[in-house]
Parts: sequence; C-alpha cells; structure tokens
Amino acid sequence: MLTVFEEMPEGIYTCRAADLHAILPGPSLFHLPGRRGEPLFVSVLLHGNEDTGWQAAQSILRKYRNRTLPRALSLFVGNVAAARAGVRRLPEQCDYNRIWPGCEDGGTPEHAMAEQIVAAMRARSPFASVDIHNNTGLNPHYACVNSTDPRFLHLARLFSRIVVYFRRPRGVQSMAFAGLCPAATVECGKPGSLQSDEHAAGFIDACLHLAAFPGGPVPAHDLDLFQTVATVRVVPGRDFRFGEPGGDICFGCDLDHMNFREVPRGAVWGQLRDDRVRPLQVIDDEGRDVFHDYFGVEAGVLTLRRSMMPAMLSCDVEAVRQDCLCYLMQRLPQPE
Ligand SMILES: [Zn+2]
Repeated sequence: MLTVFEEMPEGIYTCRAADLHAILPGPSLFHLPGRRGEPLFVSVLLHGNEDTGWQAAQSILRKYRNRTLPRALSLFVGNVAAARAGVRRLPEQCDYNRIWPGCEDGGTPEHAMAEQIVAAMRARSPFASVDIHNNTGLNPHYACVNSTDPRFLHLARLFSRIVVYFRRPRGVQSMAFAGLCPAATVECGKPGSLQSDEHAAGFIDACLHLAAFPGGPVPAHDLDLFQTVATVRVVPGRDFRFGEPGGDICFGCDLDHMNFREVPRGAVWGQLRDDRVRPLQVIDDEGRDVFHDYFGVEAGVLTLRRSMMPAMLSCDVEAVRQDCLCYLMQRLPQPE
C-alpha cells in the first residue's frame, strides 16, 4: 500500500492535505537528497485531520525546490484517505500512529507498511526522526520522546521547552524510530493555525541544518520535562458529554483548561448519573487499571484523588472516543 517517490509529483507544492488523494495513490514515502547524506525522517498526516505537518513539510519542499537541502530528507505522508475526509482515520482503518513496530497487535497491511518504512529508513541510517501532530484540546506546543537520552532531549528542545517522556501507548512512530536515531513527536496545538504551520516548518528546517547533536545534557533551566504515568479513557459504551447535563458522565465544559497545569487533589472533573457505574479506565505503564489511585467518586461527583498534571485533555467527544480523554503526567528530574 506504500508508494515510494524519488521525485516530486506534479502539483505537490500547492496541494492541500484534503486534495493529496488526487496526486498520491495512498501513503507515500519521498526520498530527497541533501548535502549531508544521513536523512532526517519526517512523518506527517498519520492522523488525517492534523494538517500542520503537511503544511510545514510543503513549505520546506517549496523553500528548497530549486536548491539543495542542507541534509537529505525522507518524508512520509501517511493517511491520505483520512485527510480527504478530514478525519483522524476512516472507520475501517487502523490508527496510523499505532501500527509501528513494537505495538502489541499486528497483522494488517498497515502494520506491514510501517515495518517496510522502518526497514527502508534503517538502511539509510537516519540522523533523526520527527513525527508532526495536532491535538483537539487547549494545549501548548510540546514535544514527546520515548527516551531521556540527551540527544533526544536536544532534538525535542529544538521545538519546545516542554517535553513529555512516555512509554505508552505502544506502536507509535517515535518509539519505533527511537531504535534507529533520536526521535520526537511534536504536538502543534489545534490544526488550521498559520503560526503553528510556521513553527513546525521552522523546526524541520532547524533539524535539517543541525550537523550533529551536542554531547552534553540540555541545561536544566532550558527544559520542562514531564513523564506520562497513566492514560485516561472513557469506559467504552458510556454516554458522555461536556458541559451539558445527561448521559452517564457529564464532564466540565472547560476541562481542557487544566492541560499542563498542576491540578490539585479534590478538583472536580464531572458529574455521574450513578456512582456504581465506573466512568473511566486509567491505565498505567504496566497496563494495569489504576482508576482508584487517581480518581474518587462520591455522591455523583468525579474528583481527582491526588495532584496531577493532565495533557491532551480534549472536550471533543469524537476525539475522546477514538483516542483518549487525556494523559496524566508528573514532573521528571532531568537525567544527569
Ligand atoms: Zn495525532
């Protein structure tokens, strides 16, 4: 299902993400030469409705259309069909950021494609890997890594001083590439912002210009490092809303204002129709459900049991159904 290009097809420099299907038969990998041979690997549109990565990559393609890239670039344009429909993924599709080597399931054509891409890139000795995303809630721009190796933190720091280290979910692009080179996922806030497109493009350009990663650690005052300790999902089948009464769970309408803030113990997250119906699954790094460690329910009120910092909280029902409600994080001292 993968098409590999060594040259840019007609129309690629002006095509919007939603129209890529007219130019590309499906997921596509582009290899472009540059002055330094070890390529930067960039993936965009793993989620079809997150087009900042494509906007950024396209502006880099335009910038270097008639001149040599400072470093070779391998660009993967992922879910072209979902981009056409303006959705994260089509109902019958896998999530393109849960198919990469190291995931817990497999066996689909998408998993085979992800393996093929990692093998192709391994043969090219990539310099670094960057995966560009948007999210739905109110979030600052931040980078995610799956290793606290200083090179990974240097890469992440080129995008934002806010860096999140995580070990779950498995099967994400950055985790597969962490075995090959420094790798980061960057989260560029909501899609459709020119400022975000420019930020992501500037980041790609900075990566392309980097000759080598500095040897020492990133200075501690240059970095806000967090670790994801649990993933929070609504229990499948529950009827939930944001800010409107009714259903099994009514979450606060501005829940996403808590993103990247220290939320105190006792903070109210929502109202429940029935105390006996469990609202959330809270899965830790070992895959255990630790709901009762983090949340309490009393007289129909869902509260936080200990002070935590959430990330990626979203008030978009569809996004919460397809992915998760949020991640819970704690501050991490930077490794020496
Ligand atoms: Zn995404």
